[in-house]
Amino acid sequence: MTDLNQPVFAQHTGVTLEGTEIDTLVVGAGQAGVALSEHLNKLGVPHLVLERNRIAEAWRTGRWDSLVANGPAWHDRFPGLEFDDLDADAFAPKDRVAAYFEAYAQKFAAPIHTGVEVKKVVRNSDRAGFTVETSAGVIQANRVVSATGPFQRPVIPPIAPKDDRLTQIHSAQYFNPQQLPEGAVLVVGAGSSGVQIADELMRAGRKVYLSVGPHDRPPRAYRGRDFCWWLGVLGLWDAEAAQPGKEHVTIAVSGARGGHTVDFRGLAHQGMTLVGLTQAFDNGVVTFQQDLADNLARGDENYLALLDAADAYIARNGLDLPEEPEARASYPEPACVSQPLLELDLVQAGIRTIIWATGYAVDFSWLQVDAFDAKGKPQHQRGVSSEPGIYFLGLPWLSRRGSTFIWGVWHDAKHIAGHIATQRTYLAYRDAVQRQAQD
Ligand SMILES: Cc1cc2nc3c(=O)[nH]c(=O)nc-3n(C[C@H](O)[C@H](O)[C@H](O)COP(=O)(O)OP(=O)(O)OC[C@H]3O[C@@H](n4cnc5c(N)ncnc54)[C@H](O)[C@@H]3O)c2cc1C
Repeated sequence: MTDLNQPVFAQHTGVTLEGTEIDTLVVGAGQAGVALSEHLNKLGVPHLVLERNRIAEAWRTGRWDSLVANGPAWHDRFPGLEFDDLDADAFAPKDRVAAYFEAYAQKFAAPIHTGVEVKKVVRNSDRAGFTVETSAGVIQANRVVSATGPFQRPVIPPIAPKDDRLTQIHSAQYFNPQQLPEGAVLVVGAGSSGVQIADELMRAGRKVYLSVGPHDRPPRAYRGRDFCWWLGVLGLWDAEAAQPGKEHVTIAVSGARGGHTVDFRGLAHQGMTLVGLTQAFDNGVVTFQQDLADNLARGDENYLALLDAADAYIARNGLDLPEEPEARASYPEPACVSQPLLELDLVQAGIRTIIWATGYAVDFSWLQVDAFDAKGKPQHQRGVSSEPGIYFLGLPWLSRRGSTFIWGVWHDAKHIAGHIATQRTYLAYRDAVQRQAQD
C-alpha cells in the first residue's frame, strides 16, 4: 500500500491503492480538486485526491495553443499564491495556469495521485461510506467529492451534418489554424471560445463565418478597471442564479493580445461574416435563424448596463476614475447584420471546416449514488448533495456565478471542506456512557 502522506505528483506507476481507507476522497485534480485539498489540509481532514491524467490537465491539453486566461493575473488565481513572474494586469498563458496549479499543490504537499482513474463509486450497504473502484485498486472512503470539472464532455448538437467533405471538430479539439484544411471556416457558437477561435482564424487569413447566439458581452475594461473588478465590486460574481431565461447565455470575453472587448460589429468590419443561430443542414446548405440583430442588441444591452452600473458605482463612492465616453461609441451596422444571411451553400462559400464551439456536458456515469434527479442532474445545496457523504465542486452556478472560475471555486471549496469538518465533529461526539467507557 502507498504512503498517503507522501504527495505523488509523478504519473502513478502501478503502485496499488488496494485496501486504502480514507476519510475523504476527492476525484479530479483541476483547480477545484487542488483548492479543496488546501482547505481540507487546513482543517486536518485526512484525504486523497485521485486524478486520471495530470494536475490541471484541462489547461494543458484541453485548450487551444494561444489561449490565455480570461481574467488578469491579479484576479484569476487563488488567494494563497500570486503569479510572481507576470504583471498583475497581464493574462496568464494556459501552460502558465497549469504550472500555477501544480506549484500551488506542491506548496502544501497535496496528497494527489495522478494517473489514477476513479471508475465506480457505490454506497456500502453493510457499513458507512463508499466503495471506490479505481484503476489502481479498490478503496474505501467515508466521503467522496466530485471535482471532475464543469466541462467534461464536448457537446456537438445533433444538427451536425454527415458530410465527408467537411472537417468537423469541437472547440476542445481546436489547437491552431494550421491544423485545419485550407478554406473557409464556419464557427458555431460565439461565447469566449467561439469568438476567440474565429478571431484567430480570421487573423491567420481565413474567411470566417461566425454563428452568434444570445450572449453577454461585458467590456474588457472600463474607466481603468477590468471587468473582473467591476463584477466583483458590483456583486455580480456572487449572483446566486442566472436570471430566468439567461441560464444558457454565454459570456463573450477575451484576454487575447493583451485583452480587448469582444465587439462583434468590429469583427464584421474586419471581414468576418456574422450569422444568426445555426438552424439546420440540408443537402450541403446550412440555414441560420433570423435572430442575429436581436442577439447583438441584447449583447449591447448587457454591455451598456454594465457601463451604467459602473458609472453609478463611481458616483456613489466618489471614486476618481477617468471618464471614458468612447466606450459608448459603436460601429455602424455591418451589411451582414442589416441584411443577414439566412442560408449558405457550404461548397460555394468554400467552407471546408466547421468548428462547434457549442459547450460541454458533465459525465457522472462513475458516480452510482442517489445524488441525481430524474434527468441525471446533480441534486445539491452549495455542493452538498442529497446523498449524505457525496459532494460536488466546480459545477456551473454551484453556489454563484463565480463557481466555475478560478477565483470562485476556491470559495466553494472552503464551504465544502467546512461542511465535511463539521460532519466529522458530529461523528466524533461520544455521549456520557461512551466517554466513561473510554476513560
Ligand atoms: C476554453 C476555456 C477557457 C477558460 N478560461 C478560464 C479563465 O481564464 N479563467 C477562469 O477562471 N476560468 C476559465 N475557464 C473555466 C474553468 O476555470 C476551467 O474549465 C477549469 O478547468 C475548471 O476546473 P475544474 O477543476 O473544475 O475542472 P477540470 O479542470 O476539468 O478538472 C477536472 C479533473 O478531473 C479529472 N477527472 C475527471 N474524471 C475523473 C475520474 N473519473 N477519475 C479521476 N480523475 C477524473 C480530469 O482529468 C480533470 O483533470 C475556462 C474554461 C474553458 C473551457
